[in-house]
Amino acid sequence: MRKATARTNRILGSATPSLESRENAARGKYTLLRMTHRVESRPLPDADVIDLRRERAEKEDRGFVIFSHPLKAALQETFAAGEQAIILINRRGYAPYLLCRECGNDFRCRDCSVTMTVHRRSGLLICHYCGSRKTIPAKCPLCSGEVLQPIGFGTEKVEERFKRDFPSIAVDVLDRDSTRKKGALVRILDRFRSGKTQALIGTQMLSKGHHFPNVTLTAVLSADSILGYPDFRSAEKTFYLLTQVAGRAGRGERRGRVLIQTAFPTHYAIQHALRHDYESFYESEIQFRRTFHYPPVTSMIAILFRGANATGVERAASSCGRMLEEAIAPLAGTRMQGPAPAPLSRIKGVYRFQILLRSPHRVALRRAVEGVMGGRRWRGADVAIDVDPINIL
Ligand SMILES: [Zn+2]
Ligand SMILES: [Zn+2]
Repeated sequence: MRKATARTNRILGSATPSLESRENAARGKYTLLRMTHRVESRPLPDADVIDLRRERAEKEDRGFVIFSHPLKAALQETFAAGEQAIILINRRGYAPYLLCRECGNDFRCRDCSVTMTVHRRSGLLICHYCGSRKTIPAKCPLCSGEVLQPIGFGTEKVEERFKRDFPSIAVDVLDRDSTRKKGALVRILDRFRSGKTQALIGTQMLSKGHHFPNVTLTAVLSADSILGYPDFRSAEKTFYLLTQVAGRAGRGERRGRVLIQTAFPTHYAIQHALRHDYESFYESEIQFRRTFHYPPVTSMIAILFRGANATGVERAASSCGRMLEEAIAPLAGTRMQGPAPAPLSRIKGVYRFQILLRSPHRVALRRAVEGVMGGRRWRGADVAIDVDPINIL
């Protein structure tokens, strides 16, 4: 895309521009230059979805399918042909949480509102938000129950399952845990590039930037991990991740293949990513944003209240909320959500409340918020104001 201003002609180059940039192009702020040929005109890889609702999970996996039958078959074919595969799972550790079968305790971090991730190899439960850790207990501390089950899966469990199902195939894991030691990242990538390993299991760290000519299969084990976030950008983020992934299989001479496991095979973000159809994705997504009054159709301001005392934070948020309500009343079409606990309601012992404002009147909304917030301090809470926030968790 070309940004046209009086003196500059900046080219914003992207196969998948952000929705904001594309919307600016639609409004005439940028000029849209379409590039219709892929580098060297290599064909795009074949991309398919695997409908997880039709797959049966192994009993010990409690409803979670790790390698579906079609994916297993495709992996076998790939290795038999002497080619390589990349397996993406956007979660590190063994499982996202541990569950007590007796009382339902899910071992949440004492300081954060999230479950602690099971890291079986190191024998630890680790909070991925604050880093606090404790030994995986033998018994539930609440009810002394002895049946504690890891639920879901991350890179560590995928590796375990891969080694069981493909015992003769050399595999590495690339995630934040496996690359902590100096030089480890380079070694893992070198082994894969030279063909010493035939499969690489990795997190999003692996989804872009690398070039492996012998990779002909890329598998996404769960496309739904992002779609499920309470974030209006989750479809957009899913679309970007999947198009990036789909773009990287078969960058060499051979035609590549991409397999995406999902329980929502007909979701437009997944369907359009499969076909690399940015324009159709944009049309569907902008329609969704229009219907629900989300950016870039509206302007959004997120106001986050943080403090060590839950009551103090809530009180500050509600008195601010009342003032904002009055301030935005004259602005037609302006909406206020909250104050309410943020989706991550507590991190590192700090309580978090949130107010979200959305309005078609960008400048007037900013002025209204400045009028209420400008120079004011709130007892019991620190306040952060984020205009057009990227994350609202
Ligand atoms: Zn229990
Ligand atoms: Zn924590």
